[in-house]
Amino acid sequence: MDLSGIAMNALYADVILPLAFGSGLSYSVPASMAESIRPGCRVRVPLGQKKMYTGIVARLFDQAPANIALKEIAGLIDEHPVANVHQLEFWQWLSSYYLCTPGEVMKAALPAGLKRSDNRKPKTRSFLSLHPSLIENPREIEQTLSALARAKKQQEALGVFLRLSSASFAAMPFLQKSAASMVQPSVPVPFPAKNSVQYENSAPGLFKDQLMEAGQPASVIKALIKKNILVVREIEILPKSVAADEAKAAKHLNQEQQQALESIRQGRESGSNVCLLHGVTSSGKTEIYIHLILECLAQAKQVLYLLPEIALTTQLTTRLKAVFGNRLGVYHSGCTDTERTNLWNKQLGDASYDIILGVRSSVFLPFKNLGLVIVDEEHENSYKQQDPAPRYNARNAALVLAALYGARTVLGTATPSIESYYNCLKGKYKLVELSGRYLDWQLPEILAVNTAELKRKKIMKSLLSPPLIEKMRESLEAGQQIMLFRNRRAYAPMLECSACGWVPRCKRCDVSLAFHKQGSVLRCHYCGREYARPRVCPSCGNKDFELRGYGTEKVEEEVHTLFPYIRIARMDSDTMRNRAAYEKLISDFEQHRIDVLIGTQMLSKGLDFDRLQLVGILNADSMLNFPDFRAHEHAFQLMTQVSGRAGRKSGRGSVIIQTSDPQHPVIQYVLQNDYKTFFQKECQERSEFGYPPYSRLVEVIFRHRDENLLGQASGFFASLLPPILEPSVFGPLPPLVSRVKGLYLQKIIIKIKPEISLKAAKDYLCQARDQYMKDKVCRQVQLYFDVDPV
Ligand code: ADP
Ligand code: ZN
Ligand code: ZN
Repeated sequence: MDLSGIAMNALYADVILPLAFGSGLSYSVPASMAESIRPGCRVRVPLGQKKMYTGIVARLFDQAPANIALKEIAGLIDEHPVANVHQLEFWQWLSSYYLCTPGEVMKAALPAGLKRSDNRKPKTRSFLSLHPSLIENPREIEQTLSALARAKKQQEALGVFLRLSSASFAAMPFLQKSAASMVQPSVPVPFPAKNSVQYENSAPGLFKDQLMEAGQPASVIKALIKKNILVVREIEILPKSVAADEAKAAKHLNQEQQQALESIRQGRESGSNVCLLHGVTSSGKTEIYIHLILECLAQAKQVLYLLPEIALTTQLTTRLKAVFGNRLGVYHSGCTDTERTNLWNKQLGDASYDIILGVRSSVFLPFKNLGLVIVDEEHENSYKQQDPAPRYNARNAALVLAALYGARTVLGTATPSIESYYNCLKGKYKLVELSGRYLDWQLPEILAVNTAELKRKKIMKSLLSPPLIEKMRESLEAGQQIMLFRNRRAYAPMLECSACGWVPRCKRCDVSLAFHKQGSVLRCHYCGREYARPRVCPSCGNKDFELRGYGTEKVEEEVHTLFPYIRIARMDSDTMRNRAAYEKLISDFEQHRIDVLIGTQMLSKGLDFDRLQLVGILNADSMLNFPDFRAHEHAFQLMTQVSGRAGRKSGRGSVIIQTSDPQHPVIQYVLQNDYKTFFQKECQERSEFGYPPYSRLVEVIFRHRDENLLGQASGFFASLLPPILEPSVFGPLPPLVSRVKGLYLQKIIIKIKPEISLKAAKDYLCQARDQYMKDKVCRQVQLYFDVDPV
């Protein structure tokens, strides 16, 4: 018997499994699958004694691995790959750069609908419309209704259908009075007829679930379908905001914008594929993006437009939709699993969107021929995923993704991250600047108010300084709007016993509890747990407590006391629980139904309001004094961004910054709108202390509920690091908040200077982790890496 033929045809596959350990496993491919299996296809594979997993084929090969008997793949789920080769390569990069398993990346990348092992049938919603013969000949509707006289339930269901769907309007003139009365349902209808939709040129109709919500049983609807009275069509559900709008042409660029566009184009020709577009707020960066997108579409290539957060940028979505209509797909963090799965499938198919406007995780979507990636507000921290793995920065990942496709990247912001600007100076990115606002709208006038001095002179009686109150009064009298920024929510961050100084703290986290006046509760801002406000101090029995510090809720109260007749709203994570709440607030502010908007850093995000004249920054000190090497960078960015909201179209705006240290260099750079000097000074400090961009940081984080075991494990890990890393190792130390949700934390910070290769350092870390995982005691303590933490 000749077996050589079989041996030659043998095929093996590396399969990525959704696990947090190991780097994927190899399986043998049964001959029956050899023809159809491809990288990117999902497979079912056995693991261990009896477990079955769904994984993705990463690689096929025909050399049998030596000395191992491989298990066979049990089932092939897909005919066509659900992830393309670029995506697989991208996952590989993420897992090696961010030191996690490919399985963890896969888990983050794939929408839930593809993680199950069922077939990749898009989720649909059944859409009902009248049978075409009835639409053509509406008189028959009446006859049909009468004919159903003996099937009362069907008659009623058809009546409700006609009433709720606009089908009834088409039919109504032909319906005689008697028949029309039958159209009135006997049950109250829970929603108005505007719920009916006309779907992609189909006849008017209604979704089946809507008809069922109106009290009509599925069996009755089924009977109407069987009788050819209604027809059903399955329609895929995609993220909502993709409805086609009338396409408007892009705006004509002014001279400075045109020059910027030109230099971005030249960047491409001269071989630098990454551009940093540094333009002050309202300089027209978005208009330039629109032109770049048009050019990319003209080459039949796709665009990924990344934003840190979509709920806050409905204005931008509307602007892009006005130009690109239904070529634009929107992918936000509120998308349901079904919507994500359907969007993924659509992007794999022939009718994919040309432009995806999306948040962080949209870097995982399949693209066929990506030509351009735009990272808007590139400085934003929310591009970084904190938990769980992969702890990636979508800005940096997007650069790699673009490179895999040979696409170009434009990073845009008014306040570049130190890293990106540094990369420009090093020649890695091309810097393109826009220094003026569109139409020469002036940048706001920024004033610093010295609160320390005002307090000393006993003039400062409120959280708001007299100069700010005065400006507010002027603005309100002129019919303008105001924003007040305070980077803390709640009423007061802390409650304190006035006799002994006792402070209520969270039982599970190492933080004091914030007092929320609304609901009169104490709440932990780390785990969300609520506590009743204590009546007596458990430490000394005293009954008096003092509130320490203040948050947005208190600001709201003060503004209300000062200006009782104006309309005030608050924008923080307590009031903005969902997308609808944002949209309502933004539109209320746009329509001038709100005079003063008070909020946290949410205020800094790309909002563009015509009548916003005054911005107040209530406590700059708390940002400047935050114990983190990035505090100054963040403070500069936040203050500049918040200020940039003022006076876009309605004349020159004003900004008042309240601080006890107006001479603080960062405040001065904000006042003078001087990014460059700020950058130089910041770099001097960072270089002195060896912080990024002069080093790379990797944090090793340990988590466990037993503090002693935690100390032992983190110490053990540190001892496993080679001497060559020693000068770079700091810790283990507890972080600022050393316990969260009942788990104690310890951190080792590794500062990797350019003398050591990042790759080598990471290899040491992984080797140490492998050693660590062999220790039966220590490995109970959870360990993970955070590369480039923010
Ligand atoms: P940025 O993104 O830099 O903050 P935008 O692109 O939002 O700036 O521009 C600010 C405002 O100016 C927007 O309302 C925009 O429509 C308008 N604008 C900018 N450039 C132009 C232009 N060339 N023609 C017409 N309007 C423009
Ligand atoms: Zn006390
Ligand atoms: Zn807590």
